[in-house]
Amino acid sequence: MATKSLRSFLENGLTHLKENGLYNEIETVHGANGPMITIGSKNFINLSSNNYLGLATDARLKKVAHEAIDSHGVGSGSVRTINGTLDLHDKLENKLAAFKGTEAAIAYQSGFNCNMAAISAVMDKQDVIFSDALNHASIIDGCRLSKATIIRYGHSDMDDLRKKAIDAISSGKYKKMMVITDGVFSMDGDIAKLPDMVEIAEELDLITYVDDAHGSGVTGNGYGTVKQFGLEDKIDFQVGTLSKAIGVVGGYVAGKRTLVDWLKVCSRPFLFSTALSPADIAASLKAIELLMDSKELNQKLCENGNYLKQGLEKLGYNIGTSETPITPCIIGDEKETQQFSKRLYDEGVYAKSIVFPTVPKGTGRIRNMPTSAHTKEMLDQTLAVYEKVGKEMGMIKESL
Ligand code: PMP
Repeated sequence: MATKSLRSFLENGLTHLKENGLYNEIETVHGANGPMITIGSKNFINLSSNNYLGLATDARLKKVAHEAIDSHGVGSGSVRTINGTLDLHDKLENKLAAFKGTEAAIAYQSGFNCNMAAISAVMDKQDVIFSDALNHASIIDGCRLSKATIIRYGHSDMDDLRKKAIDAISSGKYKKMMVITDGVFSMDGDIAKLPDMVEIAEELDLITYVDDAHGSGVTGNGYGTVKQFGLEDKIDFQVGTLSKAIGVVGGYVAGKRTLVDWLKVCSRPFLFSTALSPADIAASLKAIELLMDSKELNQKLCENGNYLKQGLEKLGYNIGTSETPITPCIIGDEKETQQFSKRLYDEGVYAKSIVFPTVPKGTGRIRNMPTSAHTKEMLDQTLAVYEKVGKEMGMIKESL
């Protein structure tokens, strides 16, 4: 039984969240996570996954995962520094380096872990990190873990970045300086201003760190945002996840050989947490091969993203500033956003509400994630539901 103080903390906290529309109910999905999902006995058009290229259920990935289990077992046994690196880990890391156009890469158990690992392996309390105001939670936590001073700059505001970096240099307080950003911002779908960022970084000697979790497989013909701008040589840390477009689980940091050598001896999630399993590695490896061999899935993803965005905009919705398939539908008020999502759910569209603390208060939204696996019929059905629910809730005009 929980102690009295813990019990009242939890009960009061949960009541507060529920009363303010901030409590997230989690449904159980029966079966695979594809463009359609089943919850209870009902089927839904799934617009909430990060499975951008539909690879989470791809037969080619499943086949190699089975084979890897047969040849290497289900677990990697230990951390790699203690029990050795599987040949599969080496293969995956070589492939990741080729994919990202870098000398080397290191794989971690998740994208979140990459940010826990890499930032604190390099930055410490004598240093300063300039962090975009809308950076992902794992970047924020990774920065905190490093104990460096964190200075937030306005979202994608390169003048603010420059000013704050110059002020930090003038103060003479810091040893190393880093600028850190998402490649694609996950809640709005806009792309970081990497060329401008690199220009400032070169001028002021800032270490550059780009977490392209939502860019890889999506932007730059699937190669990601850094490649889209041709900056592979200029970004010190290219971080990515294997859990979104790649369809599996895991993460990686790509960069110079010396950086990867350092992370292999100094980053704590690599040293103290068991390595990726054989099936995960084999499936990820296959996904990257598919991505590098053909643009088909990537093109279909972009086509579907544009179709949904245009459709929602035509209906009169505010889809924000997205430059990628991420399609937010910004409602504002948290409770209204949750009601909207619930009505979509009743009508067979699974598109979850995203509210504070994931996005700032008052900017609640439904985040739609079209994938290459959605058919035009599914997207048309989604738009029809948006039209019906929008009119019913007074979000869009009857005449539209
Ligand atoms: N970084 C960013 C920018 C992300 O959007 C996410 C996932 N939401 C992560 C890291 C975490 O990746 P993973 O799910 O592989 O832990």
